[in-house]
Amino acid sequence: MTIQNQKSKTSPSLLDLSTVELEKMVAGFGQPAYRARQIENWLYQRYVVDVSKMTTLPQSLRQNLATAICLNPLTEQFTIRSSDKQTIKTLFILPDGEEIETVLMRYDKRQTLCLSTQVGCGMDCPFCATGQMGFRRNLSAGEIVAQVLHYARFLEREQKQVTNLVLMGMGEPLANYRQTWQAIRRLNEPTAFNLGARHITISTVGLVPAIRRLINEPEQIGLAVSLHAPTDKLRNQLVPLNRRYPLAMLMKTIHDYVTTTRRRVTFEYALMDGFNDNLTQADQLVELVQGLQCHVNLIPLNPTPNSPWRGSPDERVEAFCDRLTTANIPTTVRLRRGVDIAAGCGQLRHRQEGIVG
Ligand code: SAH
Repeated sequence: MTIQNQKSKTSPSLLDLSTVELEKMVAGFGQPAYRARQIENWLYQRYVVDVSKMTTLPQSLRQNLATAICLNPLTEQFTIRSSDKQTIKTLFILPDGEEIETVLMRYDKRQTLCLSTQVGCGMDCPFCATGQMGFRRNLSAGEIVAQVLHYARFLEREQKQVTNLVLMGMGEPLANYRQTWQAIRRLNEPTAFNLGARHITISTVGLVPAIRRLINEPEQIGLAVSLHAPTDKLRNQLVPLNRRYPLAMLMKTIHDYVTTTRRRVTFEYALMDGFNDNLTQADQLVELVQGLQCHVNLIPLNPTPNSPWRGSPDERVEAFCDRLTTANIPTTVRLRRGVDIAAGCGQLRHRQEGIVG
């Protein structure tokens, strides 16, 4: 049976529906509520988004669903792999023609997926390829979840699973709080994708009110904060939102987050040649984060064509890292993964438009 999917553009997809909404929909087709759970099982545990393959459902229901609602909001445009095959990146087209990227990073035992939460980003960080694009729109919960299901299907062929999710692709997840959180719930729920909250990390530029909101969420997901600079003067240039929520306010909020949730926070710090990578700045960073249960991730900047900054050379990265480690700040230098496939945030889309390489 080939089912034509007639619903288009920006209307919600099947993956946007909560269990209750799904039950209502199947009830509208004269079907009992348990059909909703069957559909969820197909979608989130067997990764089947094509209703024609949901063989436990009656034909009539399959046909009804396919004509009533968009089944999968993502169309794979193309996928590229790094030369070592450990980083894989897909560019997807959304029903309204917008594009997003998702990256899979493979490690020995982990398969980490980097998800987009918006098309573009409104945070305007000048060193970031997505920031340079500007904001286009929020993703729906279903569009976020669909990225995971796509790669879950891909990995299933190798008897592997998505083990970790980082919301570090295009967009500022906390600026799209409602849809992002709905997606996280779906991905975490035992009756849906069933991935432990501790395997999910949200990365933010430092939206203080949203971090406060996060403190009260029951799910124990991880928090990463993109710091990039130890002083307001420097951070104002890299993260414009710092003018609204300066470091003192941000750090106070993070202290409250750590104290209340008893969870460690991760700081992201992109090292830029001659800009934020000297040892005085390392000492300032130590002072800023000392006493906080945290981990610092140092990432040599992935240069983007429209910004003046370049990544720090290895010896400066090492010296910066040593300074933090000596001060007992747990620090990791993150590998520059997927540089050969423009795996940095928003870079594939740029490349496709001919801006890079
Ligand atoms: N908006 C969120 C999540 C998306 S970006 C945030 O800012 O945290 C994910 C991480 O990649 C952030 O730490 C961001 O600052 C960093 N990043 C963006 N562009 C980069 C680049 N060109 N090189 C290195 N890191 C970059």
